Amino acid sequence: MSVNQQAHTGPPYGQPQPGYQGYQQPAYGGQPLPGEQYGAYNGPMPGYQQPGPPQGYFPSLGFPSKGSPVSINSDTSSLPPNFIGSLRAPPTTGAPPPASGAYNQFGHGDVQNGIPTSAAPVQRPPASQPFLPRSAPSQQYGPPPASVQQLTNHMAGMTIVSTTASAPPPAGLGYGPPTSAPPVSETFSAPYTPYTASPGPPPTTVFQGPPLAQPPFPAQPMSMQRPPTQVPGFAPPPPSTGLGPSPYPPPAGAPRPPPMPGPPLPGQSLAGPSASQPNHVSSPPPPSPMAGPHPGPPMGGLHGPPPPTHPPQPGYQIQQNGSFEQVRGPQPNYPGAYPGAPNYGSQPGAPPPPKRLDPDSIPSPQLNELPPQQKPRHRIDPDAIPSPIQVIEDDRNNRGSEPFVTGVRGQVPPLVTTNFLVKDQGNASPRYIRCTSYNIPCTSDMAKQSQVPLAAVIKPLATLPPEENLPYLVDHGESGPVRCNRCKAYMCPFMQFIEGGRRFQCCFCSCVTEVPPQYFQHLDHTGKRVDFYDRPELSLGSYEFLATVDYCKNNKFPSPPAFIFMIDVSYNAVKSGLVRLICEELKSLLDYLPREGNMEESAIRVGFVTYNKVLHFYNVKSSLAQPQMMVVSDVADMFVPLLDGFLVNVNESRTVITSLLDQIPEMFADTRETETVFAPVIQAGLEALKAAECAGKLFIFHTSLPIAEAPGKLKNRDDKKLINTDKEKTLFQPQTSFYNNLAKDCVAQGCCVDLFLFPNQYLDVATLGVVPYQTGGSIYKYAYFQLETDQDRFLNDLRRDVQKEVGFDAVMRVRTSTGIRATDFFGAFYMSNTTDVEMAGLDCDKTITVEFKHDDKLSEDSGALLQCALLYTSCAGQRRLRIHNLSLNCCTQLADLYRNCETDTLINYLAKYAYRGVLSSPVKAVRDALISQCAQILACYRKNCASPSSAGQLILPECMKLLPVYLNCVLKSDVLQPGPEVTTDDRAYIRQLVTSMDVAETNVFFYPRLLPLTKADVDSDSLPAAIRNSEERLCKGDIYLLENGLNIFVWVGVNVQQGLLQNLFGVSSFNQISNALNALPVLENPFSRKVRSIVDMLQVQRSRYMKLIIVKQEDKLEMLFKHFLVEDKSLNGGASYVDFLCHMHKEIRQLLS
Ligand SMILES: [Zn+2]
Repeated sequence: MSVNQQAHTGPPYGQPQPGYQGYQQPAYGGQPLPGEQYGAYNGPMPGYQQPGPPQGYFPSLGFPSKGSPVSINSDTSSLPPNFIGSLRAPPTTGAPPPASGAYNQFGHGDVQNGIPTSAAPVQRPPASQPFLPRSAPSQQYGPPPASVQQLTNHMAGMTIVSTTASAPPPAGLGYGPPTSAPPVSETFSAPYTPYTASPGPPPTTVFQGPPLAQPPFPAQPMSMQRPPTQVPGFAPPPPSTGLGPSPYPPPAGAPRPPPMPGPPLPGQSLAGPSASQPNHVSSPPPPSPMAGPHPGPPMGGLHGPPPPTHPPQPGYQIQQNGSFEQVRGPQPNYPGAYPGAPNYGSQPGAPPPPKRLDPDSIPSPQLNELPPQQKPRHRIDPDAIPSPIQVIEDDRNNRGSEPFVTGVRGQVPPLVTTNFLVKDQGNASPRYIRCTSYNIPCTSDMAKQSQVPLAAVIKPLATLPPEENLPYLVDHGESGPVRCNRCKAYMCPFMQFIEGGRRFQCCFCSCVTEVPPQYFQHLDHTGKRVDFYDRPELSLGSYEFLATVDYCKNNKFPSPPAFIFMIDVSYNAVKSGLVRLICEELKSLLDYLPREGNMEESAIRVGFVTYNKVLHFYNVKSSLAQPQMMVVSDVADMFVPLLDGFLVNVNESRTVITSLLDQIPEMFADTRETETVFAPVIQAGLEALKAAECAGKLFIFHTSLPIAEAPGKLKNRDDKKLINTDKEKTLFQPQTSFYNNLAKDCVAQGCCVDLFLFPNQYLDVATLGVVPYQTGGSIYKYAYFQLETDQDRFLNDLRRDVQKEVGFDAVMRVRTSTGIRATDFFGAFYMSNTTDVEMAGLDCDKTITVEFKHDDKLSEDSGALLQCALLYTSCAGQRRLRIHNLSLNCCTQLADLYRNCETDTLINYLAKYAYRGVLSSPVKAVRDALISQCAQILACYRKNCASPSSAGQLILPECMKLLPVYLNCVLKSDVLQPGPEVTTDDRAYIRQLVTSMDVAETNVFFYPRLLPLTKADVDSDSLPAAIRNSEERLCKGDIYLLENGLNIFVWVGVNVQQGLLQNLFGVSSFNQISNALNALPVLENPFSRKVRSIVDMLQVQRSRYMKLIIVKQEDKLEMLFKHFLVEDKSLNGGASYVDFLCHMHKEIRQLLS
């Protein structure tokens, strides 16, 4: 049986879509690619090989006939779906167990609220009047108050008679996904301690027993260590970064401290030469033990002496585990170093440095207790502490050139900042799944001891680069995918076939299952099925199954989804030009709705609603000469006044739709209505989808706090005085549970909500965002929207949002091998039980972070397996299962854990964990808990894995040497430590945004990318080398670009050459650069072209269009820019990197003492 024996009549999937012309979004339109054959498989198999354009991951397959697009007859059968059985149910033998109906959300699907789908419209009194704008009397269409009222009254009366009340709202739900084990509250409920205080009871186990000897790196391929050691003579790279006793800092007030000219301070002379990973940064050194001479070369005993050719590095130096080849300090391999930054660090005899930072400003009771003469004065060379830029560069250099082949268990992938290709040989690509560690402790005790969270960041529908294959679609026909009888895991490369291939043993639960006759195949002499390479589910980490009807709601194949555009037409929206902009854009954008494979047109139907205090529905049936408006003013009991003609095929109704979009801005041009409703808008969309029996997405364009009388009405409860109080958490919580209940209904229907906000003042994002968040949707926010400056950003976001890959009615479950299980989930979704993540919609940008806990022992031999199964409906209405498998190593030595961690993923998890924590705990407690956990992680390493050394040394695991700097960025973020300029809505917005981010996005969000544009090579495609996020790295004569995924700043130094200004801005002097620029002028010279191409390149890489802001040095906007220089002390009290590192060191020492 060949995989594609089913009728795969379409061409290879991933049908190239025509680019969206004129939009200059190379990432959105598909690139037509030649249909690559999947080499490993036997010959051309049309159904399951495809090129991989970014758009169109859906294979083109004949979908079971749907009849007319609008299905009016409702099928009330509601057999439980048969997708995922309960985890580890008792073993069954013989026939598979009955379907367990784990998809609870389907139970809601057949509840018909409101009008019966077929009869209602007919029975209603005529609620609609055709409108003929421009010529018709005003009362026929909306806005003029008198006539609206007239119609409204009419409608209201009718409504009372004919609408069915909505289902009673279920009990209120927590804002976040309900989880059974809320570790957040456990941790965060602890009484919080001051910043410098001891982080609670240290894990006593950390101190039990002698430190583990650092084993060499046997059995670990070098590629699994990061960075690989390259220094001859250093057999195993020391797994640690040593920070030695601190010298005393010079007086405050000046840039960076060059090397001390005086006699070496304790530890200094022992620090390795700078070129060999100099060591010893110590933060506030302990008074007495640190005063004496360093006990010996910190690394020498175990790892060989540092190369002796370099002068001692004074000041704080760091010993980087496993990175002897790197040069810290001056970082000579950084071409050109940093203009403007003093070249210091390795030049003995440099003049005494002015003090760069004031380390003593860290709140530190301990320090204050010290006698003045002993007060530690540290001076840390910023070049001697772990540099994110260096780590990123090293990884690029070491791992960017070869493909990442996923055949080996437990391989740590290259960093997210490295460009690399992935070859799937049995494990899911890191584009789909990244883990905090690829080698997890065998026992729960070890895991607890280390405090390293075990988590996976999963992006099930991730976009792949064109060079990589999209997951193949496997069609097993009516029998559906082969699954384990007991745990319901899907067939995957790790299942073991036994008894000549007649049965297979589950790699997750060990249960033995009969191979269905049609799936039987002989085994070769190695026990491998002879069709191994013909079947994606046997040989690949990621693939898709075509789902049978058993996986569908109500045992009925779904209809294609619908998009409903719901436009706020209140005064602000009209006045700002927004309504006209949206309508104009939709006229062309509707041609670019997602399509499946090579379908000529999208199967998605569209509908239109406008609203202020009342809702206006539009009949755009193709047979009409003009659109018709129907007004519903009884917003307390929302219903959809029409069915036929509301959701239509774009091509069939194009004339009517265009006419409508032309008329809407005119109709409301003179509106005086300032109040809006919000919940009824979502309810209307939900009811429309229910009536049409399909899933879909609502695109809501909204401007203000919904204060009009209606369900879900909100009040302004913004109160910045709550910041830093126990009530601060209420700012992040919704002000009513109404929206939680609405979200639940939406998820049950597969109604995903994307919300575009255009606020001029507080509109309570925390509450308005509940439905988008819990339905898997997105929120976009354009504060003080102005056509001139913001339309590009909004339109680009809208285009991408409308066009991007999205699955509907999705349910995700993560299965694990016995020993661990998924216990906690973070992201934009809804959960009605403890295992299934439900999303009305899941797009290619959304991630779900899953935390695992032990429930038994794991073994080093078998390792640990994850299988993520996502059931969803494609944009053409096809029901699919996407499967991602990942195998991890397991260890009995903590050192193996620490060697295989990924800090970027760890930070992604920690940020989401903390950002959820603020819903229930004081923000300060959340910060303290984060610090405490990371200190424990590092202390455990120090205690158990690092070579013995002075307590004054800060020793960081190689894979986690950036944990302090990145953690500090999370702590300083607007959610956890807001400055006065950050609004409550901003914080709520960021909090929700981060919760769905993937690892690459959190990486650049927390540690922005800073590029010296003036160093860009105009003749090459490459980006200039990034520099560290610190003001002292900026040179007055240069221009820099900083991006964090949401904004791009272009910073211009006051001394930039006139020629450069002319080339980039078209002005002859610094003063002539306009503050109002929101784009770079298009000038025909190499520098301008280069910079604009860099900006374009960055825009394409990010899931949102970034706002471009020009910042002139010493201008008022510079304060905003400096907020993103995250290595520096922030104005609102956030510590500098150096200071924070010292603080972490102190925390760790407290744990160790
Ligand atoms: Zn199983």
